[in-house]
Amino acid sequence: MSNAKDEELWSAVQGRDASRDGEFFYGVMTTGVYCRPSCNSRRPLRKNVRFFTTPEEAERAGLRPCKRCRPTGASANVLNQVVHELARQIDAAPDSKLSLEQLAKRSGYSPFHLQRSFKAIMGSSPKEYQTAARVRMLKKELRNEAPVADAIYQAGFGSGSRVYEKADGQLGMTPSEYRSGGKGLTISYASGQTPLGLMMIGATDRGICFLQFGDSDQALLDDLRLQFAAATVQPMPDSSRTEFESWMGALNRHLRGLEPRLDLPLDVRGTAFQLIVWRYLQKVPYGEVRSYAEVAAAIGKPSAARAVAKACATNSVALLIPCHRVVRGTGELGGYRWGMQRKRVLLDTERAASKR
Ligand SMILES: [Zn+2]
Repeated sequence: MSNAKDEELWSAVQGRDASRDGEFFYGVMTTGVYCRPSCNSRRPLRKNVRFFTTPEEAERAGLRPCKRCRPTGASANVLNQVVHELARQIDAAPDSKLSLEQLAKRSGYSPFHLQRSFKAIMGSSPKEYQTAARVRMLKKELRNEAPVADAIYQAGFGSGSRVYEKADGQLGMTPSEYRSGGKGLTISYASGQTPLGLMMIGATDRGICFLQFGDSDQALLDDLRLQFAAATVQPMPDSSRTEFESWMGALNRHLRGLEPRLDLPLDVRGTAFQLIVWRYLQKVPYGEVRSYAEVAAAIGKPSAARAVAKACATNSVALLIPCHRVVRGTGELGGYRWGMQRKRVLLDTERAASKR
């Protein structure tokens, strides 16, 4: 093997790259042992290492197989390569949504065997791996997307604050709580990463009043301040950190389809109409959707589909008030305050998880 190739192989060894198992082996001339690239043993000094294409080649050089990584375990090698190949195929086409049976057919193993092996080798089931691949694709797309394309702007409003002035007249209600801008409230905020990107939580002493996705802490904080212009807004104090971390844990599990039912404290303010819509949304079961018209009918205002859409667009507590479960009657997704891609992934994840 050439020197440049050797350096490339050496970096795979340093990275314990299991996807290269079976492709080559490395021998440690000082200990007389040869290993798979992914072997857990301590990395040897570069100068003592030689590379081999087959176990036979290594053994001809006087080396014996490592007892830890068992480089001659041929069946394990093949399985490992097959699983990594499937993972590569999923990464290349995250949207193809292959069933376990389809993947099993491709691999030549039984669905049961593949499920177990995939999980053992990749750390997640094929289904979880596919969901994660879709989320990775989404994140990439979001990074390339124009920063603001949310439902409020699509609805023709110029800025976040004017939404509430207009909503006032159009809904025929007085959002007095919005007018006051959260006067007298103290809101603590903190942010964290989720499968759907950066998320900020704002909470009063009663519960969560703000849960939103955004591009940066600053943009999220601007939104929070805009919405609660008269409130005292402060970073989450250390005394609340444990609680915040437990919320983030629950939300992250939820976003991965592992915890359908979220039970976090809410403290939302809205018009009577908004509160009725939001309360109804909380009753739409995980994995299901309703049309704007269906929601309007269900709350006894069959002609208020447009107002329902506005109540969804002005929801400031994503996930806890699951406005993403409302879609157009035509089957189109409709708008989403935090972007269509996020809505699509949320609904896909829920559908997949509820069928599990
Ligand atoms: Zn080894």
